[in-house]
Amino acid sequence: MLTATPIPMLADNYAWLLRDPETGTIAIVDPAETAPAHAILAQLGNRLDYILLTHHHNDHVGGADALAKHYNAVILGAAADAHRLPPLDCAVKDGDTIRLGAHTGTVIATPGHTIGHVSYFFPETPILCCGDTLFSLGCGRLFEGTPAMMFESLGKLASLPAETLLCCGHEYTEHNLAFALSLDPDNPRLLARRETVRQLRAAGQPTLPAKLGDEKQENPFLTAPDAASFAERRAARDRF
Ligand code: ZN
Ligand code: FE
Repeated sequence: MLTATPIPMLADNYAWLLRDPETGTIAIVDPAETAPAHAILAQLGNRLDYILLTHHHNDHVGGADALAKHYNAVILGAAADAHRLPPLDCAVKDGDTIRLGAHTGTVIATPGHTIGHVSYFFPETPILCCGDTLFSLGCGRLFEGTPAMMFESLGKLASLPAETLLCCGHEYTEHNLAFALSLDPDNPRLLARRETVRQLRAAGQPTLPAKLGDEKQENPFLTAPDAASFAERRAARDRF
């Protein structure tokens, strides 16, 4: 079974280590820098097969080129953004199938945070690497896309299986939770979540991966009934 482990990078980024234990195949999603990746790969036989990029922001691609050269790894990223990503070995688009050892994944176009943003879904575990599209209890800022575009992208992700593990690009859960509670202060699920998040953060542990089934009930951007209320919530979150 494919496993996903967060690798903390920069101040609050996560790259994700994807590992197929049967074949030993290893991928890293969104490496912002190299040192934390080298440290974890040194414990895994100094092997890196693939680098998967969700979007072009430097806090997601900063280490990609150097890591690819060092380990002779293949870089995958959105064809639409090839001009502003590190040099791609494999340019992907919505609906493409990708191989990771014995496992296959699907590329899902999720524009909104940026126009060329893609997410990677591996149905067997299931694992979703969603970059800066969907966060635990939040979603990415609309730097390039429209609210309607992001609402549609989130809708696509919300249709994946409830047990899907969300491997998001940032540790933003605490602040997102505070915003969610500001909209719905007595929500028992959010209050329970606050305790779990507090304990994890106090112990220096990631709050991710989150479960899509929980997010569909608790994330104010997934519970927004339509694009207009989504837009309103996103604007309010920008000011929060
Ligand atoms: Zn970003
Ligand atoms: Fe980011």
